[in-house]
This record gives sequence, C-alpha cells and structure tokens, in this order.
Amino acid sequence: MDFKLTKEQEMVTLAARRFAKEVCEPIAEEIDREHRFPRETFNLLSKYGFVGAGFPKEYGGTGNDKIAQLIVVKEIAKVCAATSSILSIHQGSINCLLKFGNKEQKDKYLRKLICEGMVGAFALTEDNAGSDASNIQTTAVEDGDSYIINGTKRFITGAGQAGVYIVLAYTEPEKKTRGITAFLVDSDTEGFSVGKIEDKMGICASHTGELVFENVRIPKENILGKYNKGFKIALTSIDDARVLTVGAQSLGIAEGALELAADYAKSRIQFGAPVSKQQGLQWYLAEMATKLEAATWMTYHAAQMLQEGNRISKECAMVKLFTSETARFVVERALQIHGGYGYMKDYAIERMYRDVKITELYEGTNEIQKLVIARAVLN
Ligand SMILES: Cc1cc2nc3c(=O)[nH]c(=O)nc-3n(C[C@H](O)[C@H](O)[C@H](O)COP(=O)(O)OP(=O)(O)OC[C@H]3O[C@@H](n4cnc5c(N)ncnc54)[C@H](O)[C@@H]3O)c2cc1C
Repeated sequence: MDFKLTKEQEMVTLAARRFAKEVCEPIAEEIDREHRFPRETFNLLSKYGFVGAGFPKEYGGTGNDKIAQLIVVKEIAKVCAATSSILSIHQGSINCLLKFGNKEQKDKYLRKLICEGMVGAFALTEDNAGSDASNIQTTAVEDGDSYIINGTKRFITGAGQAGVYIVLAYTEPEKKTRGITAFLVDSDTEGFSVGKIEDKMGICASHTGELVFENVRIPKENILGKYNKGFKIALTSIDDARVLTVGAQSLGIAEGALELAADYAKSRIQFGAPVSKQQGLQWYLAEMATKLEAATWMTYHAAQMLQEGNRISKECAMVKLFTSETARFVVERALQIHGGYGYMKDYAIERMYRDVKITELYEGTNEIQKLVIARAVLN
C-alpha cells in the first residue's frame, strides 16, 4: 500500500482546508450558540463540489475516491464538528442511494443531493430501537401499488432540513430483520411531519429530531434496493459511515484540538516561560500526537479498502472505536492544557469538548463496535 496522498488528494486537502478556514470557522461559534443549521454553508459545500467529493461525475460529483470524501469531512471537522456531521451524514444517504438505488431513483435524486442543495437523511432509530435496531415498530403495509407507512423515528440527523429521507420499516415483521424494507420518502408527502427537534449538548447546529409517519402513502417504485432487504442496506451503510463519518470527523476534531493545544502552550506564559516548556505538558502533546497518528493510518487504510469494494465490518468497527476514543482523549488533554481558559466559551476547545462526545455514540455506540469486533475475533 502506498502511504502517500496522491496529487489530487493533496489538492482536495488544500481546497477543503481553505473552505473550512474561510467559510466554516468564522461562524462555528455562532451556529453552535444559536443552534442554527448553516444552510448557506451547506449550499456552498454543494456549489464548490465538496458534497460531491468521491461521487461519480455523471451525477454531478467530482469523480474522485473515498479518501477525498474522508479528507473533506476531516478538514471541516477541524474547525466545526457540527458542519462536518451535517455533511458526512448527508453523504451517507448519497452513498446509500448510489449503492442500492435503481436508475430512475438515481436520476431523480442524485443530482439534487450532490450539487443542487437538497439534504438527505437516513432514518432507522426509534424510541425503543437504538442499539437493537431490529426492534423498530414502524410498519409499511401493502395497499395496491403503494405501501402505507406508520410510525415514529427518533434522533434523525437532518430532520426538518432534508428533502428526502431513507426510512426503514417492517414489511413482514414476523420475519424479523429479513422483513425490513427501505423506502425513499419525500419531505412533502402527505401524512409525514417533523416532530421534536432535540436540544443537544454538542454539534448543536446539526439538527437531530423526530419524524412522524401517519398513513404515509409511498409508491412501490420508492422501495430502495430489494423488498425485505432493508436491514442489509442499514448494515452496509453503517459500515461506510463508521469510517467516512465518524472516523473522518474524529480525526478532524483531534487534529484541530492538537493544533489549538500546541499554539496555546507556546503562547501562555506562567513562571516566566511558555507552559510548553513544562515537560509534563510536552508528554501530553506527545501522547496526543502519537495516538492521532495511529488513528489516521487506520482510518485511511479502511477508507482505501472500502474504495476497493471490500466488505470490512470488523475494520470499520475498529476505526470507529479507536478514532472516537482517541479524539475524546486528545480533546480532553487539549482542554487541560488550556487551563481554566479552556472551560470558557470564548475558546473553541470548550465547544470541541462538547462536540467530540457524539463520536462515541452515533453510528452504533462504542460498546456495539466491541461486539462486532469480538464476534469477528471469536469466529
Ligand atoms: C446526535 C445524534 C444523531 C443521530 N443521528 C441518527 C440518524 O441520522 N439516523 C438514525 O437512524 N439514528 C441516528 N442517531 C441514533 C444513534 O445511532 C443511536 O442513538 C445509537 O445507535 C444508540 O442507541 P440509543 O441511543 O437508543 O442507546 P441504547 O441502545 O439504549 O444504549 C444504551 C447503552 O447501552 C449500551 N448497550 C446497548 N446494547 C448493548 C449490548 N448488546 N452490549 C453492550 N452494551 C449495550 C449502549 O452502548 C449504551 O451505552 C443519532 C443519535 C444522536 C445522539
């Protein structure tokens, strides 16, 4: 394996870094404080091809690979985790359509999602179906050439912002996970509404909320993938997201926090010298940098394997587990290096400390990653 970025990947890094610095960073604190979805940023991400990184040119993408997608999310997460979350979960819904959609569905949605500013969302979780996703209660009952969906989804990223939702519902509940089907639901469909938007601890600008389905009639042509194969779609999509959403986001947050910590340590004077001269803090920085280096290679390696079309559930779970724990460790140490100032909202590290926690929770909690890894080890 080549451990160097290609010229194209280097160019993507520079472009994404510049966008993050010029567009995302200046409003990161404001959209966090106001819990405001950054619609204008999302439109620019679309316009400048960052949403399209890693997607085919035929649908408006930039045609490069999954490493480019990872790089864009990482660079944005360095300055604004909420925006990186909005972007990467949206890209997850595009990935899903690209993999499982038929030609008509791709023609109908992909351009809108990739370069025309439409937001996509993925709706699996419910009140009593988090880690145990098979316990969903949402049903889709056949009625002529349609299905009638009833149920309520919870904690859905993009709720109220998305134009199309990928919704998982039981079509044959007695068959358990082999009786779940994925549907494409347009946001203006009769009977569909958005319920409570959650008041969260972090990634506040990324809206997370409830979706309510009351006798929502969905034509059969809106089945995504095959009938009763929705759970497989969910599992495959989650594998990708563990690397391209959580892995990329964790690396970005950790890189950002390490840079802030090093800069702060060099500028903060105590006992007549920068605190960076204290060997205790140097050891913190050394540990942070070392863990981040390991997490980085692990994530790029998994992204490359996904790019080559491998099914690598164990490696994806390992990336999710290790990068998120690394990011939390790095951010916590970075805040410690800031001393009391790090506890104040005037400093970005305070926001990062709240934001980083999500990486250990969504796309399957870290306990669930350990189950996946242990199962593979014991197989
Ligand atoms: C900000 C945010 C955004 C989200 N976005 C989306 C989205 O876009 N789409 C979507 O479908 N979902 C989304 N989710 C849902 C997310 O994936 C779930 O919250 C997550 O899977 C955990 O489910 P839960 O919250 O119900 O926790 P629970 O499953 O109730 O878990 C509670 C605790 O028990 C542990 N646990 C549960 N089962 C086991 C087990 N078998 N072994 C060991 N420990 C176990 C868990 O690890 C956790 O510590 C989002 C969540 C958040 C917070």
